[in-house]
Amino acid sequence: MQVYKGKSVFGGVAIGKIYVYQKGEQQVRRRHISDTQSEKERYHQAMEIAMAQLGELYEKAKEEVGEANAAVFEVHQMMMEDDDFIESVEHIIDNQQVNAEYAVAITGDNFAQMFAAMDDEYMQGRAADVKDISERLITVLNGGASGGIQSDEPVIVLADDLAPSETVQMDKDKVLSFVTVHGSLNSHTAILARTMSIPALVSTGMELTEDLDGKMAIVDGSNGCIYVDPDEETLEGMQESIRKEQEQKELLHKLKGKENVTLDGQKVMLYANIGNIKDLAMVMQNDAGGIGLFRSEFIYLESEDFPTEEEQFLIYRQVAETMAGKRVIIRTLDIGADKKCDYFEMEEEENPAMGCRAIRICLTRPEIFKTQLRALLRASAFGNIAIMYPMITSMWEVKKIKEIVEEVKQELTEQGIGFGNPLQGIMIETPAAVMLSEALAKEVDFFSIGTNDLTQYTLAIDRQNEKLDDFYDSHHPAVLEMIRMVTENAHKAGIWAGICGELGADLELTQEFLAMGVDELSVSPGRILPIRKIILETNVEEYRKQHKK
Ligand code: PEP
Ligand code: MG
Repeated sequence: MQVYKGKSVFGGVAIGKIYVYQKGEQQVRRRHISDTQSEKERYHQAMEIAMAQLGELYEKAKEEVGEANAAVFEVHQMMMEDDDFIESVEHIIDNQQVNAEYAVAITGDNFAQMFAAMDDEYMQGRAADVKDISERLITVLNGGASGGIQSDEPVIVLADDLAPSETVQMDKDKVLSFVTVHGSLNSHTAILARTMSIPALVSTGMELTEDLDGKMAIVDGSNGCIYVDPDEETLEGMQESIRKEQEQKELLHKLKGKENVTLDGQKVMLYANIGNIKDLAMVMQNDAGGIGLFRSEFIYLESEDFPTEEEQFLIYRQVAETMAGKRVIIRTLDIGADKKCDYFEMEEEENPAMGCRAIRICLTRPEIFKTQLRALLRASAFGNIAIMYPMITSMWEVKKIKEIVEEVKQELTEQGIGFGNPLQGIMIETPAAVMLSEALAKEVDFFSIGTNDLTQYTLAIDRQNEKLDDFYDSHHPAVLEMIRMVTENAHKAGIWAGICGELGADLELTQEFLAMGVDELSVSPGRILPIRKIILETNVEEYRKQHKK
């Protein structure tokens, strides 16, 4: 048994096989296939889908960059339909009784090598095209996810590091746990693991070798350890922990349906953070009173191009309808920093966390912002949607946003398209917004404090930098004082203030937040019931007296 220690992102125990996730190129594993006929059919179906994708790309490119430049996609279509290529794939499936992905990968490599070895420069250049089409086919065969996990059973995903775009594209049913060699506790990948309520470790410093693939392991989120090839005794101990955890969960589930009210009658809104429509099941299971933060940028991260108004509208409407009248706070896109989307074609920045992200993109590229606002406004006619704007630093930004929202409403009215009248709030996640909170409170319907970024910008610590995790003191008095100040300023203006950053889920601070008068806590779904338990057991007045508040 080998034991590695990392930093724990979420508690709990996971037992299963390790899946070594390699970045970049598609990871293709060889699998034995007995029914080669249906495997060949699967290959042909994938080919049809890939051909259609190339056709769409051709049309799009023709419009944007002209026919001559778009021709590359026609060339790709021809290559994909090339008899020799198809024959080779089928031959490998039949003779080696292997999966289509593997056959395509081998064929792609062989053909690329053949082209690269040719004398003609033009033909040499085709090597990259062959690689491209085989990657495309493999992606389709993987079910469309470029970071697809090729395993029949749920696994412990072991990776060097994971970008939010990779994490979000993984099939969640296949992931028991995330373990990364690098990575920070405050990264969005860590946040996603918390939303999924699965044990996860970062910064384990393990060596990512192929021989770990398929090995049995235990991830213990309570002590931050991963045990590879665990011995009998460890395995039994962990199975016991899982049983206890289950008992604990059952006890907590008895709190479902109860109001979030303290012993002395203070009520708190307890909402859930989500990044994806698939998280709604967890929201329901854990009895959240609403959604306090829907990170809409994950819709963009999962797409290959800008999601259209209609695509977004359907998602927002579905969330609103599923929540059936409960509040759903949708944050406008917070792309930038660690959440990168190639098709935004952003310039490289020296300092992306302080660069063009979130509302700064929306205000400089209003066409993107307006598409999202149209979708949000239309969807808000179908439920209790509120819109929230991230990364606010100045009053003019809020005024400009309001102007744009009015323009969009005007356009919808002129077009005879129905829309609702959603509340509009802002995130308080920069020290500037904290200092302006008294004035800002008069302009908006609510505040939601983003403690992840607020801590990063207040303490001048890059939240992505794992080496600084020890300096990233989330209980730093400066941050706590800011939360107190923002809440007070919100109340002065008669609006409410919540916390949607990870600190809102910190059980050590729940009573402190109650004493500050924080109105709403929005946390990963798995945290709702543990926080409700604390709320139900707290007498805020008593707490204030004891702590001289
Ligand atoms: C935050 O900064 O606290 C927040 C909730 O937003 P994100 O973590 O997505 O930046
Ligand atoms: Mg933030």
